[in-house]
Amino acid sequence: MNYQEKIQLLAELLEKSTCTFALTGAGISTESGIPDFRSPGSGLWSKHDPAEVASVSAFMRNPAAFYELNMQWWNEYLFNAEPGPTHLALARLEKKRLLAGVITQNIDGLHQKAGSQKVYEVHGHLRTCHCISCNASHPFAFLVSQFDSGQNPPRCERCHGVLRPDVVLFEDPLGEDFFYANRDLTRCRLLIAIGSSLQVYPVAALPEKVRQLVIINRDATPWDGEAELVINNEQAGKVLTDTLSVLGKNKT
Ligand code: NAD
Repeated sequence: MNYQEKIQLLAELLEKSTCTFALTGAGISTESGIPDFRSPGSGLWSKHDPAEVASVSAFMRNPAAFYELNMQWWNEYLFNAEPGPTHLALARLEKKRLLAGVITQNIDGLHQKAGSQKVYEVHGHLRTCHCISCNASHPFAFLVSQFDSGQNPPRCERCHGVLRPDVVLFEDPLGEDFFYANRDLTRCRLLIAIGSSLQVYPVAALPEKVRQLVIINRDATPWDGEAELVINNEQAGKVLTDTLSVLGKNKT
């Protein structure tokens, strides 16, 4: 099947499906300038050991070092990022009622910024943080302002305990968004996995829940053999933008 035939098939699957979710990963935000974790050469994992920078034990061992490194990344890549073509296309598909919602592993908040309404953030986000001692919740901006004024690690206003971001670190259990994503997927027919290596469990097991799977990812994934349609070696943003124009033509 050539590229154009694949786009046509994707448009047809979307039109026929009674319920479709997208499962997104770091690969869709590379088009917004945020490096992913596993792209050969450019991924963050090639520069840092995840256990050292993004695990609960690393955070508990040395929260100041955790913030020193992570704040640098968040500042450089995440805080001022804008949605890319994939985020915008998914928001349009939802508006057209061809997509029930998005399940994302990303913490960058770009789906909401693009206008998506139903977004399950299974690995958390950077809008809030909480105190590891009294559990009080604070805006993430409060944590950043403390760090910027020299307080590292940032501390709780109420009890002076250490603050941590509301993101899922390695060794953390997944939160309620993962529960709701599972629930909604069992009622769904089609899952389109986009820009994810599908290697981080338990999210990587979500394709088991649906009857039809489409994978749009530059590199191969362990799920490719199970998918109805695989589109490799293409930018996700181009694939979805082209699919939207086919859907537009099918309507007229
Ligand atoms: P991953 O890094 O394991 O895989 C990304 C995949 O995207 C790769 O297989 C790559 O081939 C593909 N890719 C990269 N650019 C692409 C493009 N333009 N079009 C199509 N495919 C493209 O990412 P993952 O599966 O999401 O798992 C990594 C974890 O990293 C997640 O838990 C996520 O929370 C975290 N993370 C998030 C961000 C973010 O919020 N933007 C950034 C880095 C890592």
